[in-house]
Amino acid sequence: MTTIHNLGFPRIGARRELKFALESYWKGESSRDALNALGASLRQRHWESQQGLDLVPVGEFSFYDQVLDMSCTLGNLPQRVHGFHGDPLDNYFRVARGRSTESAERHQGCCGGVAAGEMTKWFDTNYHYIVPEFTSTTTFTLDPSRLLEQLAEARQQGVKAKPVIIGPVTYLALGKAKDDSDKLALLPALLDVYAQLLDTLAGQGVEWVQVDEPILVTELDQDWQHAFNLAYHQLKAARVKLLVATYFGQLQENRYLAANLPVAGLHVDAVGGQEDVLALLNLFPDHKVLSLGVIDGRNIWKTDLVAVLDWLEPIAARRGDKLWLAPSCSLLHVPVDLGSEQQLDAEIKSWLAFALQKLDELQVLAHALRGGRASVQDALASNAASLASRRASTRVTNPAVQQAVAAIDAGLGARKSGYVQRAAEQAALLKLPAYPTTTIGSFPQTAQIRQARGAFKAGTLDPDDYKRAMQEEIARSVCEQEALGLDVLVHGEAERNDMVEYFGEQLEGYAFSQFGWVQSYGSRCVKPPILFGDISRPKAMTVEWIAYAQSLTDKPMKGMLTGPVTILNWSFVRDDQPRSLTCKQLALAIRAEVLDLEQAGVRVIQIDEAALREGLPLRKSQWKTYLDWAVDSFRIAANGVQDQTQIHTHMCYSEFNDIIASIAGMDADVITIETSRSDMELLDAFDDFNYPNEIGPGVYDIHSPNIPSQAHIVELMTKAAQRIPAARLWINPDCGLKTRQWEEVLPALSNMVAAARELRQAA
Ligand code: GLN
Ligand code: ZN
Repeated sequence: MTTIHNLGFPRIGARRELKFALESYWKGESSRDALNALGASLRQRHWESQQGLDLVPVGEFSFYDQVLDMSCTLGNLPQRVHGFHGDPLDNYFRVARGRSTESAERHQGCCGGVAAGEMTKWFDTNYHYIVPEFTSTTTFTLDPSRLLEQLAEARQQGVKAKPVIIGPVTYLALGKAKDDSDKLALLPALLDVYAQLLDTLAGQGVEWVQVDEPILVTELDQDWQHAFNLAYHQLKAARVKLLVATYFGQLQENRYLAANLPVAGLHVDAVGGQEDVLALLNLFPDHKVLSLGVIDGRNIWKTDLVAVLDWLEPIAARRGDKLWLAPSCSLLHVPVDLGSEQQLDAEIKSWLAFALQKLDELQVLAHALRGGRASVQDALASNAASLASRRASTRVTNPAVQQAVAAIDAGLGARKSGYVQRAAEQAALLKLPAYPTTTIGSFPQTAQIRQARGAFKAGTLDPDDYKRAMQEEIARSVCEQEALGLDVLVHGEAERNDMVEYFGEQLEGYAFSQFGWVQSYGSRCVKPPILFGDISRPKAMTVEWIAYAQSLTDKPMKGMLTGPVTILNWSFVRDDQPRSLTCKQLALAIRAEVLDLEQAGVRVIQIDEAALREGLPLRKSQWKTYLDWAVDSFRIAANGVQDQTQIHTHMCYSEFNDIIASIAGMDADVITIETSRSDMELLDAFDDFNYPNEIGPGVYDIHSPNIPSQAHIVELMTKAAQRIPAARLWINPDCGLKTRQWEEVLPALSNMVAAARELRQAA
């Protein structure tokens, strides 16, 4: 009999209950007891909805982050939060969020500010975890309390509990040695605590423990491969059965290593990796459990159940009760319940499955394997009908778009002339001073702006009044920028609540959920738009606003667009064609907008690619393929313009070393990047590469309320000029200013402009 189980459930709640409870607790508006009670009730509800499974994950619920939870379990919180008296939960949030000195004073019993733990992307998802910190003297001590409490709760509810922990090798690999010591030297000490933890769980009568080791789908050098063998040979003595769970891709060259770990079971991602699984089967020991992740835990489409069964049935026949089924990864990465969606178009809705629906699919598969397909005939038929409707829908396929993509040739992505020629023409037209100043696009999104946008969406503010309200905001920001003396202006993005959603809403081929939230980090969630069909642009999306803004000033006004790669990476995208193809469709739509802006007299156009780096595959061997089509897509979007039109791009991160050749390949006239916190060292990558075009290194950390001084900006730019010829430098903030207040923005930009003047004079 096939066992079905789940690797993890979204913790934020169908209505983002956890988000609101956390934020109210942090503000001091609700008690710790209230937060704990909410946590317990969410867990209870989530377990209830997983009742039909043979094994239910326990312990993956978290008030902030599962990696930080593991750090607590292992007694590995950073040294700087030791010695605080008071509540352990407070200490947990202190690592998660940091605490300023002022707010520490408001919380009695705390003794000063403390820096937050570093946060970084969880593999190639949009979830961010708190990076464990190590030094050569790190020690570990077991604190099983959280797991034991949740286990007891689950037991009381009659849940068939499978505790979930992060495995020792992945935990070490994801952490950072603060003193550059060798993390692997900590493995023996770490394993002692893991052994104690497993022993404690065994003492509770636990049978299976899920040990997440997703690092197994990445390239591992010999030391790390060895660490796997060492770790699991030592943990072999545990009195519980271990299910080593891998996900987010295929094992490939780690297949043999994973198959032969001395554990009772292995979970692998079988979505899109059927060949890899078949190869694994040939070397997988018969006595071990193989769990196949056959339902996509990363996307929102219904599974093709018949296709999965066609593939699974022979495997099931061969493996009998040693075959388990599950979603490919934790369902943390999808929204909770499609049933909540009341406004989604019925046809599109019939193609989708959120977490609860995915678990239903799992049940259907299990029934089909146990009792034959006939036992779930209706469910299979309705699934097949949904898939057929999606395949046949004229809303998905648009022949004109497909023809346009097929007609793309190399010329489409190329500028008419090289950078040097273009730069001369642009200089003649734009007449900018040395060290030109600009901003990245958005200005503060005030309560007034949000209110107007909200009222417009709700239908209580009519379109003309809305337009007037937005124009007033644009006029205000143009006026402020002129008064500040900035050189290249922006319209301020008042009409956008989100840089992807704004474009998605105007493109054909996109749908939007009401409650499709996915946790990004802590209490922060994103609601990715759903890209379901061929992408086309019925009409211009930004021209009216930008043209209005340009009409108010003689200074050049930047047209402001989101690039195709970023739109792709921040959406739920279709699974019925390669991402690269979807990206090309987006590129053609943005290209049309670029050309319309140019036609309307806009001479500078910025195309943001904030998420280009995020899309990098986990395996380096696959980077080139991705970067090639990503850069191609950008070039198609940007490069149809005349030489005189200046193309900017913006990326709000800073690790460029390993992708600098591709960044240069985009051939934007100007790139603005985030650099202020790195003291300009990040420009070394550009310097070493002899990056040929213009660069605006950020001089103002927009994440902080601090106002950078003129002297500090001059100092940063002086450092920049040691790396990049001054003639190719721009001065700008790190990123958009939408999360800041005008009171902060005005003095900061004023200092920035003053710094530019000082530098020009000195030159
Ligand atoms: N133009 C956008 C803004 O200024 C860029 C945001 C981003 O890079 N994340 O808000
Ligand atoms: Zn940015």
